[in-house]
Amino acid sequence: MTIHSFHPPVRTLMGPGPSDVHPRILGALARPTIGHLDPLFVGMMDEMKTLLQYAFKTKNELTLSVSAPGSAGMETAFVNLVEPGDTVIVCQNGVFGGRMKENVERCGATPVMVQDDWGMPVDPQKVEDALKANPAAKLVAFVHAETSTGAQSDAKTISHLAHAHGALVIADAVTSLGGSELEVDGWGIDAIYSGSQKCLSCTPGLSPVSFSEHAVERIKSRKTKVQSWFLDLNLVMSYWGGGTKRAYHHTAPINALYGLHEALVILQEEGLENSWKRHYNLHLALKAGFEAMGLALIVPEAARLPQLNTIAIPEGVDEALVRSILLNRYNLEIGAGLGALAGKVWRVGLMGHSATPKNVLFCLAAMEAVLTELNAPIQCGVAVQAAQKIIVEKGY
Ligand SMILES: *Cc1c(COP(=O)(O)O)cnc(C)c1O
Repeated sequence: MTIHSFHPPVRTLMGPGPSDVHPRILGALARPTIGHLDPLFVGMMDEMKTLLQYAFKTKNELTLSVSAPGSAGMETAFVNLVEPGDTVIVCQNGVFGGRMKENVERCGATPVMVQDDWGMPVDPQKVEDALKANPAAKLVAFVHAETSTGAQSDAKTISHLAHAHGALVIADAVTSLGGSELEVDGWGIDAIYSGSQKCLSCTPGLSPVSFSEHAVERIKSRKTKVQSWFLDLNLVMSYWGGGTKRAYHHTAPINALYGLHEALVILQEEGLENSWKRHYNLHLALKAGFEAMGLALIVPEAARLPQLNTIAIPEGVDEALVRSILLNRYNLEIGAGLGALAGKVWRVGLMGHSATPKNVLFCLAAMEAVLTELNAPIQCGVAVQAAQKIIVEKGY
């Protein structure tokens, strides 16, 4: 049997990630591969650090892109900052907090869980109570933007509470970076990781990370070796550290890094704050459309993520059938519910290059058409108008 080249269709990606990749990024990926120690490539890595510092709003020297997806960024934060026997406070209000717990346990440390309902933000009062009850806790870990539920937590308050009790902070910003307000230095986040494929609209497989001076001190004064050779930042820094003495650690994913560089250049051209604003304004338009249709967002308004909209599925609707018609007939991908929310919600992403007025109208029109076809109890003929009103009001 002859296997032919793989030619994927052109989809519109409005799920929990990946998001639509900007054509400029796809172009950058196809540029000639050069060596990972080529002086020109090393120069691009230096620019990448500056661009990441801009996106994270930080001056942290230890800012780089881990050569693996967001999950590896998560693991980088935990394996470098946690030692066997440590106590770590882990906030869980969705899928990704559960993965943080796994990481802590696999580092030989003890997680103290702070639980909140799925769809709700982390409750800072519970974090403070846990810090008081566990004075030995060395770290507080939380997810800034819970992609599994669409809830955004108050990273600034949680970071201040942790520092007041002598603990450092690990924040998951996989879905927040570039899509909603985030200030690493201003909020005092010690270790942060993100992903290339959500609001940066790059291809998946890279994880930007940044570590504060306090975090670096903690890593340097470890009593035990980091158990992961690949993610040990002491070793990774011999390559990413800058200066002239770069040494081989692993072969960087050269072309993938061209893509991330281009994604960050695009972000800088738009302006970080403008990107946050675009995500927010288009979320308002999408929300107006869903609400006009009679569909409800499950996250309380004050904690809603603009880039991930969680919609309750109307009574009696086969949610998987809706997603499959959207995908097969309209080339539109939206996400299913996960964990506690499986079968109860759709997750509609508005991330990066996917967050456009065109996609908002397309998604609303397609969902309305399919729900009407399946006799779902929704209002017809009003969603697009409601969204259009906001799009015009906001000047797009
Ligand atoms: C997507 C995501 C991850 C995992 O990133 P991968 O690139 O899939 O490994 C981690 N945390 C959050 C909040 C995410 O949305």
